[in-house]
Amino acid sequence: MSQFDVVVIGAGPGGYVAAIRAAELGFKTACIDAGLNKKGDGPALGGTCLNVGCIPSKALLQTSENYHAAQTEFTEHGIDVQVKGFNAKKMIERKDAIVSKLTNGIGFLFKKEKVESIFGKGSLQGQVDGLWQIEVDTNGTKQLVTAKHVIVATGSLPRPLPLTEIDNVNVLDNEGALNLEAVPAKLGMIGSGVIGLEMGSVWNRLGAEVTILEAMPTFLAAADQQVAKEAFKVFTKEQDLNIHLGVTVNEIVKGDNSVTVKYTIAGEEKTETFDKLVIAIGRIPNTNGLNAEGVGLQKDERGFIVVDNECRTSLPNVWAIGDVVRGPMLAHKASAEGVAVAERIAGQKPYVDMNTIPAVMYTHPEIAWVGQTEEQLKAAGVKYKKGQSSFAANGRALGMGQAKGFVKVLADADTDRVLGVHIIGPVASELIAEAVMAMDFKASSEDITRIVHAHPTLSEAMHEAASSVK
Ligand SMILES: Cc1cc2nc3c(=O)[nH]c(=O)nc-3n(C[C@H](O)[C@H](O)[C@H](O)COP(=O)(O)OP(=O)(O)OC[C@H]3O[C@@H](n4cnc5c(N)ncnc54)[C@H](O)[C@@H]3O)c2cc1C
Repeated sequence: MSQFDVVVIGAGPGGYVAAIRAAELGFKTACIDAGLNKKGDGPALGGTCLNVGCIPSKALLQTSENYHAAQTEFTEHGIDVQVKGFNAKKMIERKDAIVSKLTNGIGFLFKKEKVESIFGKGSLQGQVDGLWQIEVDTNGTKQLVTAKHVIVATGSLPRPLPLTEIDNVNVLDNEGALNLEAVPAKLGMIGSGVIGLEMGSVWNRLGAEVTILEAMPTFLAAADQQVAKEAFKVFTKEQDLNIHLGVTVNEIVKGDNSVTVKYTIAGEEKTETFDKLVIAIGRIPNTNGLNAEGVGLQKDERGFIVVDNECRTSLPNVWAIGDVVRGPMLAHKASAEGVAVAERIAGQKPYVDMNTIPAVMYTHPEIAWVGQTEEQLKAAGVKYKKGQSSFAANGRALGMGQAKGFVKVLADADTDRVLGVHIIGPVASELIAEAVMAMDFKASSEDITRIVHAHPTLSEAMHEAASSVK
């Protein structure tokens, strides 16, 4: 029986980062993960993010943007190219190569930092003499490892839709949507969240007619509604995404090579048939096979492991991080919690501020925000000022041919402290980092205006927005 100081269950961006930090801090550490590679014939570290989430989706988004730009934007630059065709198989192979490079990289980092990587399903068995017993099931072969501290980082799974079963042939989840080797003529998408919009954008740019059916009456309810309205306009009017809000899906019927969806919108019954249907209605916490009930690990009514502000669970020396606990289901939030927990085990006092976790959507234009929306500030009765700057007046954005969108800075009416920053525009995913730093350092909007921003850059839009706060 192997004995460790820290055992991490799950090697996604929460777990693998926690394991490496624990090892760096001098703990004898193991990381147990049951993830399989795409072929299903061997382990793959990195969890949802590296295998079927953040990384592969961004690889496909880039390919589809290039394809679209070559067809529609190059002529404006005087570049005369003839796009002869599109090879979806090659796009998927490129994506798979990026995934393999990164997942193998985690194995390399584990070796370098002396983290023992154990392939198999981990389950908590109980605590004996202050040591947690964890059973690892590797294809039916069982072994027991022990540890003083356990970090649960078992992530999340796609939320199932009771009306149909995902087969990843014609009815797909994120994994299937990231692996289509031919562009479907008609693609249906249930859910207009981040995953639905990113995947919808990919296949739309590659030539599919995409229809998104969303139950909520409000588009991007979590985003600042000024940003959401601008995004809705661009996606539906300029990019031809068919987005229907306030939809009730009544029935899904699978055919041999098609899927028919019956739904109600504004009291009217409609039927549409698609070549492929993607279900992207959110994700649920994954505690399958962990034996949470057996050891009394407390979960809430939605299945999330209950933790305090510092990721302590209801059990002594058992911690939980990432998608399996409350808070935004984002890779960087999982990693931040992983580092913080390893440091807490080492007696340090780290802090993760949930109010400054950036949210990003890699649509075109991109959307990114940090902190409070105008709607949240109004609801909380907070008096605020705002400033806004449009990319239409930004020289770099015009040169890039991507001058849509704006930056909006919200600041406290009395203290001028930055309370939220909302961006829709080119590389918003990178621009938001300045706002995150400003908010983490408790900056005022005036502080941002006093920083010299290089010219001509997109970041000048942040400077301009902060300068116009009133
Ligand atoms: C299509 C898509 C795109 C996304 N894009 C982004 C993005 O751009 N940016 C972003 O921040 N987030 C993105 N996300 C979300 C992001 O992937 C998750 O927030 C992140 O992966 C959560 O990390 P985690 O470590 O908590 O869990 P996961 O990454 O889910 O990893 C959990 C790991 O634990 C393993 N496991 C589970 N149970 C056990 C067990 N009992 N024993 C052993 N191993 C177990 C699993 O096999 C898995 O490897 C995206 C998600 C999807 C689906």
